[in-house]
Amino acid sequence: MNARIPLVAGNWKMHGVVASNAALLEGLRTSLATLDPAQVEVLLCPPFPYLQQVADALRASGLAWGAQDVSDQSVGAYTGEVSAQMLADFGCRYAIVGHSERRSFHSETDTVVANKVQRLVDAGIRPIVCVGESLAQRHAHLTDAVLAHQIDAVVGVLARSPIPVVVAYEPVWAIGTGHGATPEMAQAAHAFIRARLAAGGVAPQAVRLIYGGSVTALNARAIFAQPDVDGGLIGGASRLAADFAQICMSLS
Ligand code: PEP
Repeated sequence: MNARIPLVAGNWKMHGVVASNAALLEGLRTSLATLDPAQVEVLLCPPFPYLQQVADALRASGLAWGAQDVSDQSVGAYTGEVSAQMLADFGCRYAIVGHSERRSFHSETDTVVANKVQRLVDAGIRPIVCVGESLAQRHAHLTDAVLAHQIDAVVGVLARSPIPVVVAYEPVWAIGTGHGATPEMAQAAHAFIRARLAAGGVAPQAVRLIYGGSVTALNARAIFAQPDVDGGLIGGASRLAADFAQICMSLS
């Protein structure tokens, strides 16, 4: 079995209400009706309050859903938090962790991210671990060092995981800017990440590496064609049914 079935995940961030979500979901179900889930896995990650709406709308569609974050604690007096067990309780199969917006706006450290990954794996939820360098770090030729540090923080948990795991390379400077990485930049970072994961005990063919940062219907195909790119994590374009569907179709 090919463990690296391409994956396209839509990160809705803090966008959408019931009515606009319903229209988007309807559009996606229609546009992606012919997509074979064995060829391309498609995942939608709405804000927590809308998980049930998305889960209901996607039933029997072949499309999957997941969360954008999870608590690093298991249970207790943590107002506002959502645990991995709670997500698992109603069928969540994926969750994003370590997104740069969490790292920068909520001061999430590598240790916090690693703890979240552990909670997810313990609950049987596949983590999508985001890593990536800032523009200043890239300009200072620190990209590999930053990626190595972020990967090393989670590689032990990932190597021990009995369930499949995903790593998303999301250069901070490419997120929401309209200036994504070139296919060559994405490939170089993905190859580095795959090798670093392998050095830490994660079998290279057992992990999917997806690219995120200003992916559009226009640039998706060239990025996804790179040998170490197994799909994408899509922000802005995931809220546009036609664009997101075209991005998914570019992998089929
Ligand atoms: C993201 O936030 O994960 C992301 C990749 O955003 P965008 O596609 O809008 O750059």
